[in-house]
Amino acid sequence: MKIALIGPPASGKGTQAKWISGKFGIPRISTGNMLRKHVADRTELGMLAQEAMNQGKLVSDDIVIKMMEARLREEDCKDGYLLDGCPRTMRQARALSSAEGLDVVLYLEVGDEEIVKRMSGRRVCPNCEAVYHIINDPPGSEDACDECGPELIIRKDDKEETVRKRLEVFKEETSPLVSFYSEKGIFRRVEASGSIEDTKKNAERALEQLGNL
Ligand code: AMP
Repeated sequence: MKIALIGPPASGKGTQAKWISGKFGIPRISTGNMLRKHVADRTELGMLAQEAMNQGKLVSDDIVIKMMEARLREEDCKDGYLLDGCPRTMRQARALSSAEGLDVVLYLEVGDEEIVKRMSGRRVCPNCEAVYHIINDPPGSEDACDECGPELIIRKDDKEETVRKRLEVFKEETSPLVSFYSEKGIFRRVEASGSIEDTKKNAERALEQLGNL
């Protein structure tokens, strides 16, 4: 099973990705997490990606496609995978379909103002990248990661101005994927502006409709 989750920032891709990858027993591959790891490790790739990321822009297709193709060749991907936040451009989508082809693409749909509201409460673990929301999905103990303990932080690109830039980029670069995947008959919109549980139910229904449960 090869699934991709696309959607604007803070549409809940990471949260939904967790149960979907568990349900199908496939690895979750988040290009955002992979890129942040490169930045933290100060690799050559990280140096190239960092500026675009901080400004809310996309990292170049050449970098992302090379990184993603290498990851998908790894052993744990041989029976499928869940892509979280990728593809994000038509070039990435074409590279993926010529290499592999996806079975399902879910688009988590949330309005702009709801996204800006969500971002202001978003906190992440600087170590394991777990994502929380101070109101909708708070950690068990105040301000600390439930998984591994460190104090939670606000991601640099979660500032309102950068979020609005990321939304613009999403509309320009990622929206065209809707018709690309609709034509292939593997695409479903998932209403994602409600609670985590409601979004989960909507995603389950979409997966059922695509005949993949
Ligand atoms: P995310 O954690 O998925 O929201 O990604 C954070 C940032 O990483 C994005 O704003 C982009 O700068 C970069 N990024 C993540 N995935 C991609 C991708 N597939 N293509 C280009 N840039 C990406």
